[in-house]
Amino acid sequence: MKAWESKIRKVVPYVPGEQPNQKNMIKLNTNENPYPPSLLVEQAKVDMDAASLRLYPDPAASELVKAIADRYELEENQVFVGVGSDDVLAMAFLTFFNSDKPILFPDITYSFYDVWAELFRIPYQVQPLDENFRIQASDYAKENGGVIFPNPNAPTGVLVDLDFIEGILKKNTDVIVIIDEAYIDFGGVSALPLIKKYENLLIVQTFSKSRSLAGLRIGYAMGNAALIQAMQDVKYSFNSYTMNLFTIRLGVAAIQDQAYFEKTREKVIATRERTKVRLKELGFSFQDSMTNFIFATHKNYLAKDIFEYLKTKQIYVRYFSSNLRIQNYLRISIGTDQEMDTLIAVLKEYLR
Ligand code: PMP
Repeated sequence: MKAWESKIRKVVPYVPGEQPNQKNMIKLNTNENPYPPSLLVEQAKVDMDAASLRLYPDPAASELVKAIADRYELEENQVFVGVGSDDVLAMAFLTFFNSDKPILFPDITYSFYDVWAELFRIPYQVQPLDENFRIQASDYAKENGGVIFPNPNAPTGVLVDLDFIEGILKKNTDVIVIIDEAYIDFGGVSALPLIKKYENLLIVQTFSKSRSLAGLRIGYAMGNAALIQAMQDVKYSFNSYTMNLFTIRLGVAAIQDQAYFEKTREKVIATRERTKVRLKELGFSFQDSMTNFIFATHKNYLAKDIFEYLKTKQIYVRYFSSNLRIQNYLRISIGTDQEMDTLIAVLKEYLR
């Protein structure tokens, strides 16, 4: 190794799901919404003119912050926006996890958490889920430098209730607790009301799933004004203009169409429930999912083999090979009814 090579920062990056681009593929591997965004977004796009891109965007993305604050009945100083919730979560790790004590999160969870912890040199300790993929509240009662988990958890799909979250908050009053609610709109109850009672609670959500805008990249955090101010200070120490003009305008349009949001999330939930019944009939088992995906294992067939077979039929699902505990599981995103019918028919053929 050359001397300069030894000075290069070595990191093991997060590996996102494949983004294949085939004409007739069925893409059920990255939890995108199968329905297009609201028509208000389409209109906002038409109304945009290229000339407005001459100027820098508003660094505070105030229009979008205001629209989100209005939607959730918050003050504008209680909302932070970023380039997808990945950006928001990365900023939150950098801002809030500053202790010599380890931060705590589950062993099976969003696989970006350990990547950020490594990148920012934050000590961490993973806490094993039980055999039914449940978080053990007692694991989060020890001394720590902060707590983060998704609710519902990913990729398990398992939801906890607000009493459970409040139990964890009561044991963790001296650190920041982050609840990653990327999938909360598909049947969970948000912990947002708890920010009034717990000033150390940060809620993170995204436009990528329930608002059909993974491609636009909008995530947001909600919490008390001191937390949001601390995140702003870190953001402005890094890059002021993270949200582009296009994204801000289209995001405002998206959050204003509550009726469309309700309609599409109900469609996804109905398709998920239908798919659960049919996957069970085919010999799959899974914990009850409250997300837009199902995390399933088959009693007779290897997940990896099913994954490879589906790929030959241009059906993409997610397979995580690196975590031993979930090596025999597939994460299947919920598509349209028609897409799920095709999936079931193809699985039926294979599992005969
Ligand atoms: N949190 C969880 C639990 C996720 O699964 C994802 C999606 N990969 C994200 C956050 C980030 O999503 P986005 O950056 O698109 O908002």
